[in-house]
Amino acid sequence: MKAPPTASVVIPVYNEEENLPELLTRTLAACRLLGAPFEIVLVDDGSRDRSPALLGAAAEQNPGEVVAVLLNRNYGQHAAVMAGFEHVRGDVVITLDADLQNPPEEIPNLYRALTADDLDVVAGVRVPREDSWLRKLPSWCVNRITQQVTGVTMHDYGCMLRAYSARVVRAMLQCTEHSTFIPVLANSFARRTAEVEVRHAARSRGASKYSFFKLINLQFDLLTSMTTMPLRLLTYLGAVISLFGLGLGALILVERFIQGPEWAAQGVFTLFAILFIFIGAQFVGMGLMGEYIGRIYRDVRGRPRYLVHEVKGVSRLAAP
Ligand code: UDP
Ligand code: MG
Repeated sequence: MKAPPTASVVIPVYNEEENLPELLTRTLAACRLLGAPFEIVLVDDGSRDRSPALLGAAAEQNPGEVVAVLLNRNYGQHAAVMAGFEHVRGDVVITLDADLQNPPEEIPNLYRALTADDLDVVAGVRVPREDSWLRKLPSWCVNRITQQVTGVTMHDYGCMLRAYSARVVRAMLQCTEHSTFIPVLANSFARRTAEVEVRHAARSRGASKYSFFKLINLQFDLLTSMTTMPLRLLTYLGAVISLFGLGLGALILVERFIQGPEWAAQGVFTLFAILFIFIGAQFVGMGLMGEYIGRIYRDVRGRPRYLVHEVKGVSRLAAP
């Protein structure tokens, strides 16, 4: 019989000392139910509390099962998860939050969903989501925009309780850009994806690590990680303004002949029409510049151009 695929669990930790003991016991218990070899990779994202010490102790007490990766300072949740990805060895990689909002008991479900069907990404959808509406509203907007732009209809991009195939994780590691949004990045390399409903708990201990400004930053990371569309919007905006200016100019000219020179405040509106045309032209210029910048940005990121899912058959020719 084929050995079951091995599992790696990656958890970013930032000042979560109150949650760690329960997190570790519950995650270990859930992983032992998998019936497959597993590892838990905990990444300390530069915590200032006792989290690093607790992680070190956990790694010592559970040799072979718990790995602690300690970063020198705070880099943000997605960078921390990436650091964890560098250390995973499993065939299936599952991420979750350290604050127990994502119940570790869902790990076997995600593992089964991914392995049963040879999927690349299994995303959790939080039902019901136990967060304040102030936290849910930005997420709602983000989900909508992301669905539109990526064309991949996933309902909960903010949920980090997800499973990835090792193939997709390796592809993500080849992306060296600094700002990433992992769920979107993973989808760009996935062949087949699925969603499963997962439970969600309110945060019982500690506070959310996302301040308002950090959230806004994260949205920009998400936006720029998937599209250079905003740059193109400048061109469209410019074209619209210019056309409006031209239209206004034409209207003024026609009315000037019909109504005489008093029409349109003695030429003030003519000035406006000319102004609109030039402002629009400036926007178009900026948009054009944006097109170049977008291409530079894409090339500088050096993402893999494509990802081979599988090669079938072996050629008879000798390898070069
Ligand atoms: N986190 C991190 N680095 C950060 C911020 C957060 O590693 O700079 C971790 C945090 O410890 C938690 C997860 O990311 O495990 C999600 O953070 P949080 O629960 O504060 O976010 P929210 O649930 O409010 O989206
Ligand atoms: Mg949370």
